[in-house]
Amino acid sequence: MRPEILFPLFASVSTLKGVGTKVQPLIEKIAGPLVRDVLFMGPQSLIRRRRTTSDQARDGEVVILNVTVESHAPPRGGGPWRIRVFDSAGFLTLNWFKGYGQHLIDTHPVGAQRVVSGKAEHFNDLLQISHPDYMLIPDRAGDIPELEAVYPATAGLPSRTIRKLALGALERAAELPEWQDPAWMARERFPGWHAAIAALHNPGGEGDLAPQASARRRLAYDELLAHQLALAQRKAARKAEPSPPIPPGDLADRAEAALPYKLTGAQIRALSEIRGDLASGERMSRLIQGDVGSGKTVVCMLAMADVAAAGRQSALMAPTEILARQHYETIAAPLEAVGLRVVLLTGRDKGGVRTEKLMALMDGTAAVAVGTHALFQDDVKFRKLSLAVIDEQHRFGVNDRRRLQEKGDAVHLLAMSATPIPRTLELTVFGDLDVSRIDEKPPGRTPVATRASPMTRLPEVVERLRAAVAGGAQAFWICPMVAENDMTELAAAEARAATLAKVLGPGKVGLVHGQMPSAQKDAVMTEFAEGRLPVLVATTVVEVGVNVPNATIMIIEQAERFGLAQLHQLRGRVGRGRRESACVLLYDPPLSETAQKRLDILRRTDDGFLIAEKDLELRGGGDPLGLKQSGFPAYRLADPAAHRDMIAVAADDARLILARDPDLTSERGKALRVLQELFDWRALSALNDAG
Ligand code: ADP
Ligand code: MG
Repeated sequence: MRPEILFPLFASVSTLKGVGTKVQPLIEKIAGPLVRDVLFMGPQSLIRRRRTTSDQARDGEVVILNVTVESHAPPRGGGPWRIRVFDSAGFLTLNWFKGYGQHLIDTHPVGAQRVVSGKAEHFNDLLQISHPDYMLIPDRAGDIPELEAVYPATAGLPSRTIRKLALGALERAAELPEWQDPAWMARERFPGWHAAIAALHNPGGEGDLAPQASARRRLAYDELLAHQLALAQRKAARKAEPSPPIPPGDLADRAEAALPYKLTGAQIRALSEIRGDLASGERMSRLIQGDVGSGKTVVCMLAMADVAAAGRQSALMAPTEILARQHYETIAAPLEAVGLRVVLLTGRDKGGVRTEKLMALMDGTAAVAVGTHALFQDDVKFRKLSLAVIDEQHRFGVNDRRRLQEKGDAVHLLAMSATPIPRTLELTVFGDLDVSRIDEKPPGRTPVATRASPMTRLPEVVERLRAAVAGGAQAFWICPMVAENDMTELAAAEARAATLAKVLGPGKVGLVHGQMPSAQKDAVMTEFAEGRLPVLVATTVVEVGVNVPNATIMIIEQAERFGLAQLHQLRGRVGRGRRESACVLLYDPPLSETAQKRLDILRRTDDGFLIAEKDLELRGGGDPLGLKQSGFPAYRLADPAAHRDMIAVAADDARLILARDPDLTSERGKALRVLQELFDWRALSALNDAG
C-alpha cells in the first residue's frame, strides 16, 4: 500500500500548474504520467549569462544587454525580421527567422528600452542575436537568470516550461523519513532526500550536474538500493519455495561420455553449479551466461538428463522456431542415445503428429520438450515438469515464462543468455538470479579475421563477396542501424539487397527485417541455414543464436553506429565451422575517437566478457552495450556506468537489511518501504521477473 506521504507525488502530471491538454501528452511522453516522473527528470546542462555591453560580447557567449530599440526591418527576400538596437557601446541587431510580425513592433516599439538576452554572434563585425531568450522591460531584468538549468526539451515543450513543471513537482515533495544507513550517509556526505532532490533542480554550477555530485549520487544510490531490495526479496521468496532434490545421476554421466568432445572447464563448472542447485531442495533460478557457441545448450542438456533420471521432465523454450529446431538437433541425439525421448513442439505441428507429441508429454514417455511459444499453450500438459530452460529469456514476456513454469510444481528455472554483461553490472541485471559464466570457448575454433574498411571501399568488398559466393561461401550482410526509425532501416536494407542481387544474380540474396511476419522471416532464415541461399541481408533484429556453420562472412554496414556488444554478437554468427571466417566492419569516415577504439577492440579480441568491460569503459551516450535488449532496468536517476561503484554496495546493503528485518517492520524498514514505493521497482519487468 502506498504511504499517504507520497500521494502528492503519485498524482497525475495534469494536476501540475501549467499542464493543460496540450502540454500533458508532451510531458507524459518525455517524463511519464506522474508528478514523481517529472520530479525525477533532472536538468542536463546549464546556461550561463553574462551582463555586459555590446563591445565586450564574445561569439557563442550568452549575454544580457541593456538596449534601446532604434528601428524595425521586416524581412526581405527570405531574410529575417531585424530589430536594430543600440546600447552604451554601439549598435547590434536582433533577428527573427520565424514567429515575427506586427506584434514585434507592438511589443517592442521604436524608442523602447529593453533588457535582452541571447547568444552573441558576429556577422561582418556586427553583433547579432537571433531569437533572443528574453526581451523584457528594464523593471523585469531580474527575471533573467544568470544561471539557468536546461531540461531535455522536445518540440512544443521548451526547457523553460519543463523547468516550471519540475519546480511545481518539487513543491509537492515532502521531507521523507530517512531510509539510508546514517554511517554510510556520513561517509558519502549524502544530503537528505529532500535536499538532494531540491539540489537536482537547482544546480549551482556545472559540477552539480556531474553524476558524482553528492546530491546526484545520493539519489542514484536510493534507486540502486530500492532495486536491489526488490531483487533480494524476490530471490528470497523463490528460495523459500521447496522443490524435491534431484541428485546428479549416472544417465547424465553416460550422455556426457558419449559426446564426441570433452567439456571445457567452464562447462564443467557451470554444470556442477546447476547440479548443486538441483540437489539442494530449493528452487533453482540460475542464468548461464556465455557467448554464442560457448556450449551452454549442452550443459543444459546434461542437467535435463539428471532431471529425467529422477523421473521428471524438462522443457527448453526458444524465442523462434529456427532456434528451437537447432537446440533440438543439438540435444536430441545425445539424449536419445541414453534412452530418453525428446520432442520438438512448434507452431508448425498440427493434427495427429501434434496430438501424439502432446500425449508423450502428458504420459511422461517424452522426458524433454524443446519448442517455441507453442510449449506454454493451454493444451500442453506435462506429467511432471520440473525444469524450464529458457533461451534468450528477455525475448519472452514475463507471463510467457510464468505460463511455462506453471505447468509443473516449483519448476526449476535455468535461463541462457548470450549477451555478456560486465561483472560490475551483473547484479543490476541478474540480481535475483544466480549466475554461471561460461567464459571459455570449446577448443579448435579459428578466430574470425576482423577488418575495418571505409565505405569508399564498398565496391571491393562486394567484388570479394561475389568471388567468395561463387566459391560456395555464405554471408550475412547486416544493414545500417537507424535509431528509432524502422522505416528508414527497412528502406536501406531493401536497397542493399537489391544492389547485391544485381551483382550476385537472382535468387542469391534473401532479406529479413523486423517488420516481416515471423513465419516469413523463419522461412528465409531456414533457406539460408540450409545453404540454399548464399547471402542473407538483415537488419539488426536477426536471431542472435542462429547457427549456420557454413556461413563464413559477416559484413556489417555502418559498424560505427553499433555498440561493441552488438558487433560482437553479430560477428559470433560466423566462425562456427572449421573454415576460416571473416568479418568486415564497414564504416562511414571519419571515425570518432571512440568509434575507432571500439572497432580496434573488436579486431583485437574475441572474448565477449572482455569486450563488455571495455565497452563500459568507453561508453558514450545511448545504449551501446545493447543492455536494453538484454532486459536491463531503465533507471531514472542512477547511471549504471557512472555509479557502478555503488551497485555491489547496494546489493550487500539490501541483503543485510533483509537478513535483519525480512518484513521491513523496523523504523528503517518502514522508511525503506516508502523508498520502494517511490521507485516502484516491484513493478519491474523483463529479466528481473524471471518468476
Ligand atoms: P551455445 O548454446 O552456447 O550457443 P551450444 O551448446 O549450442 O552453444 O554449442 C555450440 C556447438 O559447439 C555445438 O555444436 C556443440 O556440439 C559444440 N560444443 C559444445 N561444447 C563443446 C566442447 N566442449 N568441445 C567441442 N565442441 C563443443
Ligand atoms: Mg545457443
